[in-house]
Amino acid sequence: MMDGTIGLNKPTIWFADEDFHDADEPYLPELLTESYKSWYDDAEDMKLCMSGIFRLYTKANSYFGNHSELSLPVSVLQLDAQMSRAAELCLEQGQFIQFNYENIQYSAILVKRRRDSVAFATFVYATKVDQAISDIELEAYMKHFRVHFYRIFESVFVKEIMIQKTLIDKEASHRERLFLISKRLYDQINAESVVREVLYSLEDLYQDSEIYLYLSQDHLEGDARVRPLEFRNSANDIVTEAFLEGKCCIDREQNGYIKLAIPMNGKQAAYGVLCIEIKNSHWDESDLPAFMLIADTAGSAFENAKLYEQSNLLINELKIINDMTKRLNQSLRSKEIFQFATSELMKIFEADYCCVLQLDRESNEFKMKASNHEALVGKTYSIDYGFTGIVYRTKEALITSDYWNTQPVSSELMDDTNSRSLIGAPIFVEGEVVGVILVTHRDANHFSYDNYKLLQVMSSHIGLAVTNASLHAEMRKMVITDNLTNLHARHYLNEQIQRRQRSDAQGSLILVDIDFFKNVNDTYGHQVGDRILIQVSAIIRSSIRNGDIAARWGGEELAIYLPNVHASRAIQIAERVRIRVENETDPKVTVSCGISEWESGQDKISVESLFYRADMALYESKKNGRNRINIG
Ligand code: GH3
Ligand code: MG
Ligand code: MG
Repeated sequence: MMDGTIGLNKPTIWFADEDFHDADEPYLPELLTESYKSWYDDAEDMKLCMSGIFRLYTKANSYFGNHSELSLPVSVLQLDAQMSRAAELCLEQGQFIQFNYENIQYSAILVKRRRDSVAFATFVYATKVDQAISDIELEAYMKHFRVHFYRIFESVFVKEIMIQKTLIDKEASHRERLFLISKRLYDQINAESVVREVLYSLEDLYQDSEIYLYLSQDHLEGDARVRPLEFRNSANDIVTEAFLEGKCCIDREQNGYIKLAIPMNGKQAAYGVLCIEIKNSHWDESDLPAFMLIADTAGSAFENAKLYEQSNLLINELKIINDMTKRLNQSLRSKEIFQFATSELMKIFEADYCCVLQLDRESNEFKMKASNHEALVGKTYSIDYGFTGIVYRTKEALITSDYWNTQPVSSELMDDTNSRSLIGAPIFVEGEVVGVILVTHRDANHFSYDNYKLLQVMSSHIGLAVTNASLHAEMRKMVITDNLTNLHARHYLNEQIQRRQRSDAQGSLILVDIDFFKNVNDTYGHQVGDRILIQVSAIIRSSIRNGDIAARWGGEELAIYLPNVHASRAIQIAERVRIRVENETDPKVTVSCGISEWESGQDKISVESLFYRADMALYESKKNGRNRINIG
């Protein structure tokens, strides 16, 4: 018998060594049908042995054959039975077989694989006995057939390879494009350009299609391809479904179009849904993973861009807060703080108006301390009036996007300035609302939620600055005031005289010393002595004008500085004090006074000489009998 290589030309192309494998068995019937047809056409052309009937039996004993059965003097039934028997016998015995039956010769030969000579079909021939053929002849037919079989097998094989190659090429180019798209997406640092880029890339990749992006937050105004994600209660809305379930949804019932919705997810949240509407004929199911990959990449890139934007905003806010806090703390006067805060907040929020109101605890009213709307500065409002009233009552910040529409309260500020949007926040000092900041704009919806939050932070810093300022003021007052007499301390008096000597033309100093004060202490005790000291101080305070400075110079010696006052006038004031002390103190004491004065142009202007001369004059008064006044 023949082996698989006999009769085959030496292969000149590499895949001629290829053969079908057991695993390819399912494809065999198709290959056999085609190759039988191809061979038979060829054989017919060559007029090969056309008097008989050729059939090709598979190992499962089904067959392919021509339709000239009736050319033999035998019933179809018998022909089927005998040809099938020949095929079986041949397969069983593994070799050529031949027998006659009722004037018909039946011959069968195995068709073997060229690689390993394993039989994969049986070639059977039936003919009249008088036209009998030899085994050599049948083998020739079989080989002729087998050439056709392998030709077809090879063409299928090559086609398969070509398909594979096309697929691989397509995938490679897809991968390359995807890589470029991802790279471009990740190159974007703002969310808007990520959106633009993903739309551009998909439109480029799927020409002849409609691409939409449904976003849960608004971006890219004016681009019809970007739409807001709305949750309609429609069960077949695949966009909503894709977003809510976080998976790809496909709608194939679109008049020859297919619609895909793929969620655009980041690691922290879902941002939207990418949608493509494409002709069925243009859509290749194998593109789905690529499309999903783009949506995924876009989701992460979008998230990155958003985080980047947010961190920039945060950094910016921190910078603003830091700058403002630094400058706020440079000032230790609440009036300055309010004025600075007003101008700063206007800039930060690009606002039209800003004002700071402070609570006056005595009258229980809010007073407008600072505003760029000058007409209202100094005005007072009851604590429940307007937006200030709301902030005071709730102790919370507030935002109003359109005053004209909502009118939650009446507001002089809003009416006067024609403002429509407003943010407001309380200023806290030690947990109590001490003031309110209001920032307004003439446009509706000017302020964002972020603005509102930032104002809250700012107001807490302003509160701290106010706390610092009032603490400082208190401290300062403590330092410059004598505890017992509530008069100024000696160093404060010194500073003030020094200052006035630089700016004024003249001034007078009166030293006041209680006569025989030691006796008072000795007679009535120290506490009564203290009370006398307080009484004398009060008499002095109420005998001088606002700009004059009374101080405790030492023990029971008091001093009064009278700016821009001549000694002649100082005598009158000293005299008034002397008489009042004599009349009003209880137990009664008297005082002696020494006066000195200075004038610009004099040689020796100094605090020391002023005091020295006053002290000398005082000494004169004591020496001359006390309860009197003397000028040095
Ligand atoms: P004169 O000035 O008339 O010469 O007699 P004087 O007794 O007032 O003189 P001196 O300066 O010797 O005494 C001052 C006294 O004032 C001594 C001290 O006991 C008393 N003194 C000083 N500071 C205070 C004070 O803060 N409270 C009381 N109760 N006494 C004080
Ligand atoms: Mg004294
Ligand atoms: Mg004295």
